[in-house]
Amino acid sequence: TKLRVGLLFGGRSGEHEVSIISARAIAKALSAEENSNKYEILPFYIQKDGFWQAGETAQQVLESGVAMENPAVTPNLWQFPPLTAEIELWFPILHGPNGEDGTIQGLLTLMQKPFVGSGVLGSATGMDKIGMKTAFAQAGLPQVKYKAITREQVWSNSCVFPKLCDEIEATLGYPCFVKPANLGSSVGITKVRSRRELEAALDNAATYDRRIIVEAGVVAREVECAVLGNDNPKASVIGEITFDSDFYDYETKYTEGKADLFIPANLPEAIVQKIQEMALQAFAAVDAAGLARVDFFYVEATGEILINEINTLPGFTATSMYPQLWANTGVPFPQLVDQLIQLAMERHSAAK
Ligand code: ATP
Ligand code: MG
Ligand code: MG
Ligand code: MG
Repeated sequence: TKLRVGLLFGGRSGEHEVSIISARAIAKALSAEENSNKYEILPFYIQKDGFWQAGETAQQVLESGVAMENPAVTPNLWQFPPLTAEIELWFPILHGPNGEDGTIQGLLTLMQKPFVGSGVLGSATGMDKIGMKTAFAQAGLPQVKYKAITREQVWSNSCVFPKLCDEIEATLGYPCFVKPANLGSSVGITKVRSRRELEAALDNAATYDRRIIVEAGVVAREVECAVLGNDNPKASVIGEITFDSDFYDYETKYTEGKADLFIPANLPEAIVQKIQEMALQAFAAVDAAGLARVDFFYVEATGEILINEINTLPGFTATSMYPQLWANTGVPFPQLVDQLIQLAMERHSAAK
């Protein structure tokens, strides 16, 4: 008999559309010849407004690839007991807040079914850039200088805000990057070069998140490594992203032809090994499981490798970096999703 897999996609974040495309690619891989007699896919679609759709509606979104918003007949997951009870394993492919951040993982944990990817701690730590950097620092991983800030400090009426800006200028300088702590796809991120830009960027980031991070800007090549496994994970070959834009912003990420991926990246063997080693350390540092994509800055002139971030539910479309890195490491897409499901089962039985 086939394993009934609940494919959970869409979600309330700005990465809703990417999630639909990722889910389509995964559904296709689960129905590929080598997997077709192993898995039955039951789609669960979370609309942008947070309402859940199952059955035909979810299937329709999966097939068309187009987001939709139906009347909220079924306000949430627990309104689906007859359906969710059938699910033997969950495959969440939600990016960003309310999906990659431990919230869904908490719900799935309570449901006592295996699920693909990191648990609550790994997801939450990986998502929050401040928590993530604290974990990386503790593990001794080199990273850019940064400062953690709260919305409260940015929107205060006192002299707190000018002092804060003075401090950022003195310790980080320009250019620096202002980021909401809990987002992805570069949403809300600004590269700033002056006091005026810094003030505007902090105000903008505060509209997205209570927690904000400002990082010193680095001039470097951008390289990424994919990790697969639980307690003894493996690292993939390295990929590089190149683009002409000022930085790898939302538009560059999602406009066809604005960025190029090179796999494997043209790097000295020693650098490759160092990046792979750091990727595995980062994976362990946040307590990730199953999969993660770890992003780095490689400063060619000095040979320095700085960790930028970890993504515990990275983009998973047919052209996304994560599956492509594994395809180039010898794990084709259908085999990759199969392995992720096996890893979820292993983790679930080990937790019992
Ligand atoms: P993802 O979509 O990978 O989850 P994200 O929204 O979490 O991305 P980051 O990876 O932190 O955002 O930053 C997005 C991009 O901004 C980077 O790929 C890089 O181009 C640029 N960038 C971010 N931080 C820095 C920095 N400190 N120095 C130089 N460039 C940076
Ligand atoms: Mg990210
Ligand atoms: Mg992300
Ligand atoms: Mg990134």
